[in-house]
Amino acid sequence: MRVILNPWQADHAPTMELDGGDIIPAYETPSRFTAIRKALEAAGGFTLEEPPPSPDVPLTAVHHADYVAFLRQACSQAQHNRRGSSPHLWPSVFPFGPNPQTHNAKALRGRYCYDTYTPLLPGTFAAALGGATAASYAAKLLASGRETCVYVLTRPPGHHAEADRCGGYCYFNNVAVAAAMLAPLGPVAIVDLDVHHGNGTQHIFYDRADVLTVSVHGDPHDLYPFFSGYPDETGTGAGIGTNLNLPLPLGSGVPKYRVALTQAIEAVVRFQPTFLIVALGVDAHEADPIGGMTLPTPFFEEIGTQFRQLQQPTLIVQEGGYNLDVVGDCVVNFLKGIAS
Ligand SMILES: [Zn+2]
Repeated sequence: MRVILNPWQADHAPTMELDGGDIIPAYETPSRFTAIRKALEAAGGFTLEEPPPSPDVPLTAVHHADYVAFLRQACSQAQHNRRGSSPHLWPSVFPFGPNPQTHNAKALRGRYCYDTYTPLLPGTFAAALGGATAASYAAKLLASGRETCVYVLTRPPGHHAEADRCGGYCYFNNVAVAAAMLAPLGPVAIVDLDVHHGNGTQHIFYDRADVLTVSVHGDPHDLYPFFSGYPDETGTGAGIGTNLNLPLPLGSGVPKYRVALTQAIEAVVRFQPTFLIVALGVDAHEADPIGGMTLPTPFFEEIGTQFRQLQQPTLIVQEGGYNLDVVGDCVVNFLKGIAS
């Protein structure tokens, strides 16, 4: 299987995040990428490559142009940040009031971000662009018919990034960029397996009939991102009926997950897509530090097998997974299942 790597992921290397006012070590680090890459190389059967340079990654097909410009500018500003020894830029104030508007650089961090887990560093823009570049190249491979199953190994993840806001460690929505490229060729189904609801992907395609978004995740009553991921969010306008949320109680294991997975697959079959995209978070693993579900490592191969049976051109894009001891094996198991 061809694996497309984000060539610039290491440029984004946060050392900390802010959780409820506490500074804690960052979970989303380049070591995740290294762990997965090592597991792929150890397993064999994967061809790892970087995407060719591309001046035309269609970021603004899914993100607002002013948001893209903000990220570029703020990361450049982070280069010159002199607060303490940290290059991290954090939002301190979030929009409020009946008509929030500002041009203040400090305030804009809150305007374009919705949490304090998602700092801007000098290399964040490049790393996020690298992920979108890898995803768009993989989408081209799929669109050309040259490949039927491609995996994008990238970080930071993307599925929490909305059209105009970063959050949840995500800046550009790689899955959405790929889906927007493929959609003109035929309907696209996105299935998000990350334990946290894919709010960004839902947000971007909520009113579109040509992209089905399905997410299996921990119940947002108890788990990030809290404000979305509920079953009654089913789409709007032309997109009514093309968004399916399948939340599971925290602590859920294989039996409950199998039921939700079957529902997700059945929704894809009904939609009859031309392309399938899997947002592959593996943080539903039992040992994930920020998950809360109880899936064992071997089960990820069974999940992959379920998707293989769809026999659809498939793009797999890496999302979460934060236990460095197991993240690589979970990914390898999923890819084995979908490819074998
Ligand atoms: Zn996650």
